[in-house]
Amino acid sequence: MRTAAGERLEVLVSSQDIKTRVEQLGKRISADYDGKDLVLIGILKGSFVFIADLARAIDLPLAVDFMAVSSYGMSTKSSGVVRIVKDLDNSLDGKHVLVVEDIVDTGLTLNYIYGHLKSRGAMSVKICALLDKVSRRQVAVPVHYKGFDIPDEFVVGYGLDVEERYRNLPDVCRVMKS
Ligand code: 5GP
Repeated sequence: MRTAAGERLEVLVSSQDIKTRVEQLGKRISADYDGKDLVLIGILKGSFVFIADLARAIDLPLAVDFMAVSSYGMSTKSSGVVRIVKDLDNSLDGKHVLVVEDIVDTGLTLNYIYGHLKSRGAMSVKICALLDKVSRRQVAVPVHYKGFDIPDEFVVGYGLDVEERYRNLPDVCRVMKS
């Protein structure tokens, strides 16, 4: 892909490895949620590619909904309080919820979302994240389904951006300054 001036991309997780892993996750989720009323909740914007592939790898009738959140800023970053900027379209009553997230870093965002969704009438709430930077964790958050552990490096691609660029990249890449 063409990069911005001064940037070079280096593949960290290839599109082929992602495809294989997403298929495995899809099979596990299909078995675990068989007979249950499943809704996938994508956290925008970063999860849009992952949720599209994951939903098609799950062989069950399911619903898809989206939430968007934003951090309140530096002062509340450590408290993990986030603002919901786009709420769900549908009720969670009686549903089994699987939150689909691109990457877990400190865990603060997902911890807030997890707590919030558990209070909204769902039968169960679990988390599926494509990437996990375990060494960066500040708050324990259960990642029930995980794609890959990755080192503490800033990554882009497969939905992830830097200033809105590179979301359309098929691989997950490090951004190197050249
Ligand atoms: P946390 O609350 O776990 O610290 O942050 C999670 C969010 O930070 C992710 O949903 C993502 O938006 C952003 N983030 C964390 N690490 C990365 C990264 O390496 N690349 C990109 N593009 N976003 C990241």
